[in-house]
Amino acid sequence: MSKVYLIIAGHGHQRDGSFDPGATGFITKGEYRYMVENLFPLMKKYVPKDAKVIFYDEKKVSNHGNLVQLVNEHKADEVIEFHFDAFTNQARGGHVIIHSDYSPDDMDLRIRDAIGSMVGLRFTHRGHQGISGRSNLFNVNVARNNGITYRLLELGFGTNRTDADIMLQRTDEYAKKLVEAIINAKVEDSKPAKEPAKPLGHSYTVQAGDTLSAIAKKYNTTAAELAKFNELSDPNLIRVGEDIEIPIAVSGPAPQPVVRPSSTPKPAPRPQVTQLAIDGSFGPATTRRLQQVLGTQVTGAIGGQQRTAITENIAAVRFGSGGSMVVREMQRRLNLPSNQRGGLFGPLTLRALQRRMGTPVTGAISRTNSAVVKELQRRLNQNRF
Ligand SMILES: [Zn+2]
Repeated sequence: MSKVYLIIAGHGHQRDGSFDPGATGFITKGEYRYMVENLFPLMKKYVPKDAKVIFYDEKKVSNHGNLVQLVNEHKADEVIEFHFDAFTNQARGGHVIIHSDYSPDDMDLRIRDAIGSMVGLRFTHRGHQGISGRSNLFNVNVARNNGITYRLLELGFGTNRTDADIMLQRTDEYAKKLVEAIINAKVEDSKPAKEPAKPLGHSYTVQAGDTLSAIAKKYNTTAAELAKFNELSDPNLIRVGEDIEIPIAVSGPAPQPVVRPSSTPKPAPRPQVTQLAIDGSFGPATTRRLQQVLGTQVTGAIGGQQRTAITENIAAVRFGSGGSMVVREMQRRLNLPSNQRGGLFGPLTLRALQRRMGTPVTGAISRTNSAVVKELQRRLNQNRF
């Protein structure tokens, strides 16, 4: 019997409904989306038909505490959890984390070599470069205490320009090396992957050599439109790895041209987007539209919030911890300082939103008929923030 390998994306969907994107840096979509959208699809391409490799990204495993259950369910022999690192822009390199009580096994060392050949290595554990022994990480401990063979990979630093460029631009090569290290076999070079279909309401990651007008052309729109939609101060300055939001088409009283990718043979049906009522109530419908326009996961809820005078008056709020993805994205777009982008909807965020919407900057919000929410709803109906 060949082994069953369980591959897990770090971070992602949490118990309280909120979303943890993981570290970001130059890979602005964060660890979870990078794994799920960039790396895993290319890895899957290299997995031979007879190999049993399972990719799991449904829930944030450490948050749901379901590593043991997953391993039992899939009868997995080996678990590999995927992350990238964040620190200062100087720090770079990758490593394989195992429990400090153990020495690395052959797979750990093969993966270590794959990582080392791409981004270089950090740390040494029991004389093995690129291996780090830890006993303070949740899944590392769950695995050890339940006899699960597990390692956690850090593929490089999203906060380092060189590492991020390698992860973003040489993803295919990285994916192939990782698959070979995991299954301990050479894999076939597959034909170049077809350009992925680009759905509507999409965020596009800038690749080397891109210009805003070239990206605009792909989506049958204009550079000016994209610059406006993304609030780019200088349309000539886009950076590899940053995300460009592609506006989605709206149906409504004033018909607008449908933005659709030119390379997709059969265009996806245009999503039915109904116009929001301008009622000044920050409920699930407004939140869903906000999530669509900002390109975050569409749940209709603002999760992970503390109970405050502000959050009490936002109907879509779910109390919990960890903040919310869509609030984090708002904070980024409102140019809040980086230590104020934790995804909690507090007075700073509200004031910045009020300034952006051009409504009175009070730091307070009412549950219905709120001026700032009304203006937000008007803008969302025009697909802008
Ligand atoms: Zn991580």
